Parts: sequence; structure tokens; C-alpha cells
Amino acid sequence: MDQLGIPAIRGRTRAGAPLAPVTWFRVGGPAEWLVRPADADDLVTLLRSLPAALPLTVLGAASNLIVRDGGLPGVVVRLGGGFGAVAVEADGVVAGAAALDATVAEHAAAARLAGLEFLCGIPGSIGGAVAMNAGAYGTEVKDVLDWAEVATPGGVQRLPAADFRFAYRHAALPPGPAVVVRARFHARPGDAGAIAARMAEIRAAREATQPVRARTGGSTFKNPPGHSAWALIDAAGCRGLTLGGAQVSEKHCNFLINAGGATAADLEALGEQVRARVLAHSGIALDWEIRRIGRASPPPLAGEGRVAVDGAAGGKDSTPTRVGLTRPTPRAAGEGGTP
Ligand SMILES: Cc1cc2nc3c(=O)[nH]c(=O)nc-3n(C[C@H](O)[C@H](O)[C@H](O)COP(=O)(O)OP(=O)(O)OC[C@H]3O[C@@H](n4cnc5c(N)ncnc54)[C@H](O)[C@@H]3O)c2cc1C
Repeated sequence: MDQLGIPAIRGRTRAGAPLAPVTWFRVGGPAEWLVRPADADDLVTLLRSLPAALPLTVLGAASNLIVRDGGLPGVVVRLGGGFGAVAVEADGVVAGAAALDATVAEHAAAARLAGLEFLCGIPGSIGGAVAMNAGAYGTEVKDVLDWAEVATPGGVQRLPAADFRFAYRHAALPPGPAVVVRARFHARPGDAGAIAARMAEIRAAREATQPVRARTGGSTFKNPPGHSAWALIDAAGCRGLTLGGAQVSEKHCNFLINAGGATAADLEALGEQVRARVLAHSGIALDWEIRRIGRASPPPLAGEGRVAVDGAAGGKDSTPTRVGLTRPTPRAAGEGGTP
């Protein structure tokens, strides 16, 4: 029986926590252990004490992810309220990694700071925005980031933007476990009316062109150099294509949607079908922008049936006070899946 060396932390730890309810697609299996550190010190304690062999996954708002149906092995870190503070300065905004991009855009707008309007329509968190170099309407995180603080087993380091070597939907985080905990974005004094108008324009454009109210993960594939992914997908005849409960959006064909009852496997297989059709039609191989993580199916039951977390069984929220947690019983396929 595996022993997981999860240290005592002040935050919350939960075994077998369903993840589907927190992902934008509403699919995927559970986290073996879901850990919500109280603050950055607590997170460093966790990172420092975890066995190197234990898988570690960081989730933001899960708006760019397909969590596979077998769930995530090891420890899944999700940042909560202790990482959500937003502070406005004269020429920028400092935001915790759990703050939503839209919240940061709104704080900047309220303080008449221009330059961060593009964040208003991206449904992720600041941690995810830095990790993905999120961008829209001509601006990316790399254009506005001054620094970001990253928690590692060695402590919290403040890194200048250049250290992230940003590329299209990519940032290089320090090697090993690394979690973005805070970031500073520069902005410039602007006209309140113009800032509000720009944000309204961005929101209206999204409503008109993207299935923003659907269960989706945003753009599925990166735009290949010189091409729009959606145009290649459309030309390959994939608009509206379905597989199980998954569908290529009719409104924006670079978006996959969970049209009802989709599994992660449906979504991933449909995405692969789209890639194959585009390759056959145009000779261009699309790269996934959505990150697909976890196990395709739950690990086989091996007789484990009990969870020992300070006496709390069955995945209730709990704070362990000692290392050596018993690996929880894997859930049945689909549990915690589509609502
Ligand atoms: C309707 C819709 C519209 C979208 N439009 C856009 C758009 O215009 N532009 C755009 O760029 N994206 C867009 N997206 C995709 C998504 O919102 C962005 O990629 C966003 O930045 C992801 O942030 P998140 O917090 O949801 O990250 P998640 O999806 O939770 O995670 C994404 C990646 O970031 C990593 N990560 C998350 N938090 C941290 C952290 N604190 N430290 C280290 N790594 C971390 C995760 O491990 C994972 O690899 C859209 C998505 C949807 C659903």
C-alpha cells in the first residue's frame, strides 16, 4: 500500500476530491489529494516536504484544461482566498495568483489605469495567465508583466518577466515544483470612459463570436504560424462535428464544448479527430493549446478501502497532522463527472 508523505499544513487537504465541478468543461476524474494551502509560506512547506516521486499538479480556474476521466494522481494544488488579494498602485496592479483575470481588469479600470483591459474577457486566474502567457486582442501577459513570485521548495522567489522566456501561450517556470503566487502588471493612467468602453467592446466581441456560456476550455488549438486554427478546422469540415457528448462549437470552431454528458475521453478523441481531418485537408498539424492532464482511466482497485486522514474517511475536508496518508480508494469511472 502506498504511503504518501503529505506534510502537516495549515490549509485544507481532501482525498479523492471531485474535480469535474471546478473545471470549465465539467469533466474529469478526482484528485487523489486536493491540497489548498493557506498562504505562500504554507505552500512552501508543502513543496519542501513532498516526496520527489509524488506527482504534483497545479490548478488555476481550470479554464484551459481537460482533466482526464481517471483523475489526477498524487497532489493537486489549488490556490484559494489566501492568494486572491489585489492591490492597485500608481502605475500598476499587484495580484495574487488566485485572483481572476477579470477582477484584475476591473480593479485597474476602477483606478483609471489603462493597459490591462484585455484581461477582462479571459476567464482564468492570474497564476494560469502567467503560466500560459494568456493574451487577447493584441496584448499578452508578457507585454504587461513586471515580475511574478514563484513558490518553490527553496522559498518564494521574485522573478523579472524576462526570466519566464514567454512564448505563444507558454512560460518557462523554474524547474521542479513551481507555483506562481503573485504577479505585478504595469499600467498607465488613462481615461475612465475609454477604459470602460474598451472593456465593453471586448466583452461584446466575445459574446458575439465565442460560446462563452458553454462548458468549454477556450481555444483548443494554437494558431499555426500564418494561419488561424479556426479557419483550418472550418475548411476541413469540422464545424459542429460531434463525438459522444462533445461537439466542435458551431459558433467558433476552434472551441470544443461539452454539449451534455461528455466525458474527457469524448473531448480529447474529438480533438484528435479534428487534428487528423485538418492534417489530411491542409497538411498542417495543429498543436493543442488546451492542456490535457491526468489518467485516462482510474487505476485498478487493489484492495485499498480506507482513508486515514486524522480519522476523517471518505474524502472529507481535513487537515492532516502527520505524514503517511493511506492512498484513497479510486472512484468509479465518471464519478464527479458531468452534472
Ligand atoms: C470561454 C473561454 C475563453 C478563453 N479565452 C482566452 C483568451 O482569449 N486568451 C487566452 O490566452 N486564453 C483564453 N482562454 C483559456 C484560459 O482562460 C487561459 O489559458 C487562462 O490563462 C488559464 O488560466 P487558469 O487559471 O484557468 O489555468 P488552468 O486552466 O487551471 O491551468 C492552465 C495551466 O496553467 C498552470 N497553472 C495554473 N495556475 C498556476 C499557478 N498558480 N502556478 C503555476 N502554474 C499554474 C496549470 O498547471 C496548467 O498547466 C479561454 C478559456 C475559455 C473557457
